[in-house]
Amino acid sequence: MKSPDTTTLLELYNVPKAEPLTVENLGESGLLARILPRLKAFDPLLGPGDDAALIAAPGGKFVISVDTLVENQDFRLCWPSGFCSSGFDIGWKSAAQNLSDINAMGAHASSAVISLTLPPTTPVAWVEDFADGFSTAVRELGAIRCAIGGGDLGRGGELSVTAAVTGDLATEKPVLRSGAEPGEVVAVNGVLGVAAAGLALLDSPLTYVEWSEEESALVLGQRRPRPPLAAGPAAARAGATAMMDLSDGLLKDAQRMAMASGVAFDLDTAELSLDLERLKRTSERLQIDPLNWVLGGGEDHGLLATFPQSTQLPVGFRVIGRVKAIEVGVMGPAIYLDGKKPDVAKGYDHFAA
Ligand SMILES: [Mg+2]
Repeated sequence: MKSPDTTTLLELYNVPKAEPLTVENLGESGLLARILPRLKAFDPLLGPGDDAALIAAPGGKFVISVDTLVENQDFRLCWPSGFCSSGFDIGWKSAAQNLSDINAMGAHASSAVISLTLPPTTPVAWVEDFADGFSTAVRELGAIRCAIGGGDLGRGGELSVTAAVTGDLATEKPVLRSGAEPGEVVAVNGVLGVAAAGLALLDSPLTYVEWSEEESALVLGQRRPRPPLAAGPAAARAGATAMMDLSDGLLKDAQRMAMASGVAFDLDTAELSLDLERLKRTSERLQIDPLNWVLGGGEDHGLLATFPQSTQLPVGFRVIGRVKAIEVGVMGPAIYLDGKKPDVAKGYDHFAA
């Protein structure tokens, strides 16, 4: 984030502005020499530096997932509120959403590789900040076995960040989206609607200096989501029958899981009252119904899972509904809210207008 005070002082004393060192100035090997040490939190068996990294896979099989963030599509460097995201934020987010997909399978992340497409004028400091954000997220979110094995650097018209993460299963089989059975409970772990409220603040004409402490915390939830990484493997061990991470909004993701399992979910909105309460003041200020954020807001990267009724839920999970059978031959909705069909299916769709 730029500091307006510094700019004014520099201009006042006629100090020529130093041009930032760009990736074009430094070249690929110079840039690698700067960022690799910053990514060296956990060592793979081999790499980075060779043509591929070598990673241990003790279970004999592993899960793998890949995700891309593109400038102005998945993130912005500066927002209508005047707030500018740092390279650290983008690095954190890239790590968090990839680690979250591994978590959702009931696995521990074992390695990550990163591919960066950078406009030649990108400041080297931004890339260093990105690397710090990525490795800090891996460490702070608790992916203690995740080695960063290297990646690729390329030149392009816009910033684009791709990361792939592998993971080792906590149980013999992964937890899929398709295993929910009628009579089970629907549970979530993590916050709901926080990232969406943060996004609404970033997108609001209300400038960032007007944000309250509470609102800055919501924006932080959007910039640096905190997927509950211990919870995926814990849910798998406790016998979760279906699981996924909440990346596109509770309603949309729950619908995907219910349809994959061939069942319906009946969600109890009274169980969401604490989530709504957290967003109340901001929703009043922005005049947006907080239920839109809680039901439709993505990017919190909590977990949605189903468990047999008798299961003692692992720490952090709370019941928000029940799994219902679909009557044979009856076309009904996959999701009910308080026993009724929801009026609007909200949720983020990458390809929606
Ligand atoms: Mg996912």
